[in-house]
Amino acid sequence: MAPQDLSERYNRFEEAVSGVAQIKRSEPLRNHTTMRVGGPADLFWRATRVTDMVAVIQEAERASLDYLVIGHGSNLVPGDGSYRGLVVMNHCTGIRFEGTHVWVETGHSFKRLFKLTAERGLGGLAFAVGIPGTVGGALVSNAGAYRRNIGDFVRGLDVLTRGEVKAVPPDWMKFRYRDSRLRHGSEQRAIVLTVELELFYTDKGSIFAEAEGYQAQRRERQPSDPSAGSFFKNVYDRALAESLPALPGSFRQAGVVPAGFLISEAGCKGMRVGDAQISPQHGNFLVNLGGAQASDVRRLAEQVRQCVLEKYGVSLEEEVLYVGEWDS
Ligand SMILES: Cc1cc2nc3c(=O)[nH]c(=O)nc-3n(C[C@H](O)[C@H](O)[C@H](O)COP(=O)(O)OP(=O)(O)OC[C@H]3O[C@@H](n4cnc5c(N)ncnc54)[C@H](O)[C@@H]3O)c2cc1C
Repeated sequence: MAPQDLSERYNRFEEAVSGVAQIKRSEPLRNHTTMRVGGPADLFWRATRVTDMVAVIQEAERASLDYLVIGHGSNLVPGDGSYRGLVVMNHCTGIRFEGTHVWVETGHSFKRLFKLTAERGLGGLAFAVGIPGTVGGALVSNAGAYRRNIGDFVRGLDVLTRGEVKAVPPDWMKFRYRDSRLRHGSEQRAIVLTVELELFYTDKGSIFAEAEGYQAQRRERQPSDPSAGSFFKNVYDRALAESLPALPGSFRQAGVVPAGFLISEAGCKGMRVGDAQISPQHGNFLVNLGGAQASDVRRLAEQVRQCVLEKYGVSLEEEVLYVGEWDS
């Protein structure tokens, strides 16, 4: 589309939503990702009310604008080019409790949700204590740790899809290991607005003790440089796990090989492209040493995938999501 046509379309859209949304222009996405990379979004808006978010997205659809809803940007690598469309940052944080059930808007911080539930003596979410994103981002990738995943607790969701808000059951999401239907562009597009989780009553002290244990492990193992957490997914392959004598026994028994193990054993720790580096501390953390571009991150990830493929015959799959424009 000619730049002038796009600019006119942006102007008309901005005018149409002016009653509910103050749109920013050319907002750098690196300011909204934990990896600190990404070019500008042509249009950017921070949503705080679900009804407004629905109205703005419906208008974007009517105007045939591309749009992307993001949370905390902790699982995202946007390209260095401009995002041609609207990025909505979801800060809708409403929450309601009834017994062991909680209804929460998806812009709510996942860590904070853990804290609020634990204070009520509701167990289940201790694993969320070190996960820095929103509930929405957690649902999209079925976030988890320590053998628990958010999908285990989901009892229902409200989604915006094809311009309509509808209630869907948990199996609609097709939760799998770090995966759901929302990671697959080929499936029906949807934005998750609210979710109902069912937790269980347990001793408050033991919930916080469990969470403290997880925090201590993270402090010891995870680098503090900007990153998107684990970059690649672990590999569920029993034959591979059994063929690796250096793999700790608990992983061999579970038939899972941590991506970080393969990356370290393939000698990739410390590898760099520009300021993007495979952390010398943790093989599955790709960190930004300060001035990394998204293209450096992607090139380094490709080199690591190639290294692991050559040594183990395994093609690692990204846990992070690439969005926006990329040079081929
Ligand atoms: C230090 C660190 C540690 C981490 N540890 C873990 C861990 O232990 N386990 C784990 O699973 N992950 C971990 N992560 C990754 C990340 O925090 C999680 O995947 C998190 O749930 C992402 O949430 P977010 O709000 O940041 O999502 P974003 O990165 O903002 O978005 C991720 C994707 O979800 C989409 N999306 C976001 N909200 C919605 C919505 N409401 N509706 C539809 N689509 C939406 C976005 O468009 C994007 O495609 C870690 C990350 C870091 C930086």
